[in-house]
Amino acid sequence: AKQQQRGSSQYFSAAMGSDARERFKLLKGLRAGFEENQLFVVYQPQVDLDSARVIGAEALLRWRTPEDRFIPPDQFIPLAEQSGLIIPIGEFVMRAACAQLRKMQRLGHTDFRMAVNVSMAQFRHPGFIDMLARALHDSGVAGHNIELEITESMAMDDADLVLRVLAGIKRLGFSVAIDDFGTGFSSLSQLRQLQVDRLKIDRAFVQEAQSSSAGSTIAQMVVNLGRGLGLTVIAEGIETEEQRRYLIGLGCHEGQGWLFARPMPAEQLETWMQR
Ligand code: C2E
Ligand code: CA
Ligand code: CA
Ligand code: CA
Repeated sequence: AKQQQRGSSQYFSAAMGSDARERFKLLKGLRAGFEENQLFVVYQPQVDLDSARVIGAEALLRWRTPEDRFIPPDQFIPLAEQSGLIIPIGEFVMRAACAQLRKMQRLGHTDFRMAVNVSMAQFRHPGFIDMLARALHDSGVAGHNIELEITESMAMDDADLVLRVLAGIKRLGFSVAIDDFGTGFSSLSQLRQLQVDRLKIDRAFVQEAQSSSAGSTIAQMVVNLGRGLGLTVIAEGIETEEQRRYLIGLGCHEGQGWLFARPMPAEQLETWMQR
């Protein structure tokens, strides 16, 4: 990654700066890049921890510039959110994920679950539910094979709005996961109100679980909370066999991370599934 980050890309240096002009430049690059098809979606498998069976995949957005440089989503997604560009980009991701899900189903993976990240800015957009309905309709997949990942901080942000949008999402049959769980401050009652299906333990706790007692306490609490509420618990960022075993020991059901597979392009996912 270091190697990739060195060099003189105007985009990358802009991404690193906090200066308003540099951010503007990056946003301009993103806008043009989106028009010129520089954005694409990769897929990272999610597995059942006990059996190692593949359950599905998470769709993750990528931006490759013409100079072959990858700009990390952590840098350009906030800009897309602030500028409103996340509305068309979010639709692009949803359509790509639905089309890929359809393909997986055609290949015989009928229970495949596709997870898609969504932003608060999308929740605030009045056309969001219509967009989801059209994406389902046009691709011919059912909502129940798709899971929307919303962050814990989103769930806390504007409870009324989030509840209202979640109701629309549920009507379309989607399931919902709370992403980056353990990093926010949601209360038990808020969680219950949200009627989510899955808790996703943030990678920070997975990776700290064996090295710090705070990390392991939080990991344990999240698993217990999820199980107590009757939710499935998935852990992200599993890199080692020790982490996998530790999480199974905690009672965690599902996992995602480099130990199983890195995010990969669509074609590679299809062959990876045949392995
Ligand atoms: P996230 O939703 O928490 O996604 C998990 C991140 O962890 C991904 O980073 C993934 O590549 C990375 N990861 C997976 N397994 C491992 C592992 O074993 N070790 C380590 N160190 N990392 C692992 P990525 O792809 O760079 O995405 C970063 C964030 O950007 C995502 O975090 C998500 O918040 C956001 N993002 C990505 N795609 C989209 C999108 O289509 N829409 C929205 N709204 N946000 C997105
Ligand atoms: Ca996610
Ligand atoms: Ca996450
Ligand atoms: Ca994250």
